[in-house]
Amino acid sequence: MSLLSTLLATLHLLTASPAGDSLPAPPFVARRLADGVYAVLGDTGRGSEGRPNAGFVVTAEGVVVIDALASPRQGEGLLHAIRSVTRQPVRWLVLTHHHPDHHFGAIVFKRAGAKVIAHPDTRVLASEGGTDALVADWVRVVGLDAMRGFEFADVPDRPVTGSDTLLLGGRTIVITHPGAAHTAGDLLVWLPKERVLFAGDLLIEDGVSMVVDGSAHGLRHGLDVIDSLAPLVAVPGHGAIPARPAELVARTRAYITGLSADMRRAIENGVPMRRALASLPPADEHRPVSLDSRRRRNAARVYVEEERGYMGLEDSTQ
Ligand SMILES: [Zn+2]
Repeated sequence: MSLLSTLLATLHLLTASPAGDSLPAPPFVARRLADGVYAVLGDTGRGSEGRPNAGFVVTAEGVVVIDALASPRQGEGLLHAIRSVTRQPVRWLVLTHHHPDHHFGAIVFKRAGAKVIAHPDTRVLASEGGTDALVADWVRVVGLDAMRGFEFADVPDRPVTGSDTLLLGGRTIVITHPGAAHTAGDLLVWLPKERVLFAGDLLIEDGVSMVVDGSAHGLRHGLDVIDSLAPLVAVPGHGAIPARPAELVARTRAYITGLSADMRRAIENGVPMRRALASLPPADEHRPVSLDSRRRRNAARVYVEEERGYMGLEDSTQ
């Protein structure tokens, strides 16, 4: 029996235990952004150890959910928040990307009857060791209890690799792949009439936007796409909704552009990566999602990207 099937069998047993049923769903709050458009904000400052942001759109013909959060239990909390607003059926779940903290609650929505819209490229560095290891690692982050009833549900019923417009109950929702920015499978969710954007992890309000699964070049392009939309409201993947979306975009661009320039300068001066990273604060071995650790991982990724550019090699992620 594989590790994953053992783990899933354990999760099934836990699901079947009557004691588990008495656990209350966490009280997630739906915050209204525009008529029928809501955000459910996570806990900030904890990176993927915490809960990211999600959202949903209520239409006359059902609900469209944006991201499923980090575990079946969190997914249930999100569904509960949706049910506090509407009894409409959940028709679609859109995944902004395939990091576990954004889709490990997806099965809850699938079981509620939703179809999944996502980019078909589900690869992320964290899954390189296989799905068993990915799930086992994630159980250590969110706890076994939160994972009761887990199944993967991020393979799209409706794949988006370019741009797709979802018309439902008088609403227009544009779903766009801006290129590989944060990950290979990024999607932006845009409501043109309400001018509300769900940016996924291209925008992180309480930390740094990571490019280890994407590229600095791709992130800069993605930020240009966001700027061109000129959203009134931009919901970041993590952290608070910024008062002025353009400022968070500018801050993100300044960070990634500055990092690329620093790494390029190091390469031009023949400085090896180890020394180039020495100016950054040390990574916290016990907390890989800490801000320092994240800055370091980004810097290592951008060093390689700049080195390839310097040598005239095309970046494989572009
Ligand atoms: Zn992410």
